[in-house]
Amino acid sequence: MAAGAAAALHLNTPLLRAAPGLFPQPEVWLKMDALQPCGSFKLRGVGRLVQQAAADGAREIVCASGGNAGFAAAFAARSLALPVTIVLPETSSAAVADKIAAHGASVLRHGAVWDEAHQFASALAEQRGAAYVHPFDHPLLWEGHATLIDEVCAAGLDFDCVVTAVGGGGLFAGIVDGLRRNGRAEVPVVAVETLGAESLHQSLNAGELITLPAITSIATSLGARRVAQAAFERARSHPTISLTVSDAEATAACVRFADAHRVMVEPACGAALAALTVHEAALARFQRPLIEVCGGIAVSLASLSNWTMPA
Ligand SMILES: *Cc1c(COP(=O)(O)O)cnc(C)c1O
Repeated sequence: MAAGAAAALHLNTPLLRAAPGLFPQPEVWLKMDALQPCGSFKLRGVGRLVQQAAADGAREIVCASGGNAGFAAAFAARSLALPVTIVLPETSSAAVADKIAAHGASVLRHGAVWDEAHQFASALAEQRGAAYVHPFDHPLLWEGHATLIDEVCAAGLDFDCVVTAVGGGGLFAGIVDGLRRNGRAEVPVVAVETLGAESLHQSLNAGELITLPAITSIATSLGARRVAQAAFERARSHPTISLTVSDAEATAACVRFADAHRVMVEPACGAALAALTVHEAALARFQRPLIEVCGGIAVSLASLSNWTMPA
């Protein structure tokens, strides 16, 4: 930590060996970011960004997010006693809005999709002189997310790939930066998206950054129609294996994971958990995969039991 820097808001999460039989590979490691105070890894980057904003004199925080980034921003702002406004798209669930409001945030609804909420919230922040927290596209976010790799390296684990879900690509960018800053730039990253939210996968296939016409996956936390430019660039400069899984494969992985480790995660996280099984042959060369268990609050006992039912 730099001299004078505030203590981080996130926790150093447990690094667990996966339960026997959960994955086809005998030795798989789990970075348990589902156990962060906000239920997802988002607090790493969002906490870093909000702390910097506070240090720079910000007196208010604004964030557009229908989910975990907004929840983390509300938590981080409250920890630093800053007022915070979270703008949700009209499609976000009432349950998530309530969880965010319970942290003392003002919740506004604007726009049919995240892009519209984001435009509105950015303008609002500018108008009020508030600091805007982007959910996936900011260098301080990536710096914060990279701490998960710092922790795994400090624990001395010898992993040979990192498996992660990709939405807007902030987590992916942070993982790549974390590998680079820990001297592990040769370790491949397996970047997993659900079909219907595969904006990085399609961009890599097209050789240019593309914007999906719509998000059709139920993994809403992966629902960025266009990934950050920085994520696309890192996927081309770092050894990256871009894979997709179906919504059904992602949700089935959430159920299996809950049974084996007694922790509930969103389908967004289920995508990463599904990859080693769904793409077993393509990933056969890895002996010691590390999965970023990114977590997420948009999951409940009721949704898990629905996913258990045959579709
Ligand atoms: C935000 C989020 C993601 C995707 O992260 P990006 O930085 O947008 O790629 C994946 N899983 C969960 C649970 C998330 O909250």
